[in-house]
Order: sequence, then structure tokens, then C-alpha cells
Amino acid sequence: MKKQKPLTIVYGCDKSKAHSLLHQAIKRDEIIRPNRCSKCGEKGKIEGHHPDYSKPLQVIWLCSQCHRKYHAAYSNFNIGPKLPI
Ligand SMILES: [Zn+2]
Ligand SMILES: [Zn+2]
Repeated sequence: MKKQKPLTIVYGCDKSKAHSLLHQAIKRDEIIRPNRCSKCGEKGKIEGHHPDYSKPLQVIWLCSQCHRKYHAAYSNFNIGPKLPI
């Protein structure tokens, strides 16, 4: 068993802010949402993952499977170590 840190969410606001900023950028065509996962190359529904919510326009595009795996690995954190892509 891994030692789990108590869950302290201090970035809740940043998270929703980051998401809305990202959506605005996609609407304005400032950011192109790719149709492939940047990790496994899978096509389909691609989700943006924020490694750092203080940088709302820096996202990693992942298929829902890779995204879920990533969050499972860092289940207590929305901000984990950078994904090694
Ligand atoms: Zn994937
Ligand atoms: Zn994510």
C-alpha cells in the first residue's frame, strides 16, 4: 500500500477556471483539439488533461482510457508529475 497524503484541494477554483479558459480558446480556434490521443494514438473522444492548472492552455490530449489511467495513477491529485510523453 502506498502512503496516501490527506486530500487537500487548494486548486479547485483554478481547475474550473482552467477548463473554461481552455473551452474559450478552443471556440476561438486558438487551440485545436486533436482527434488522436497523444499517448497511444487512439482515435475517438479526446479529453484535455491539465498537468498544471495555472497554465490553462497547456493540456495533454488523451483518450478517455489513457486519461482514466493517468488519474488512477495519481488518484488523489489532479496535478501529478508531468506525463512522460
Ligand atoms: Zn490513449
Ligand atoms: Zn485529467
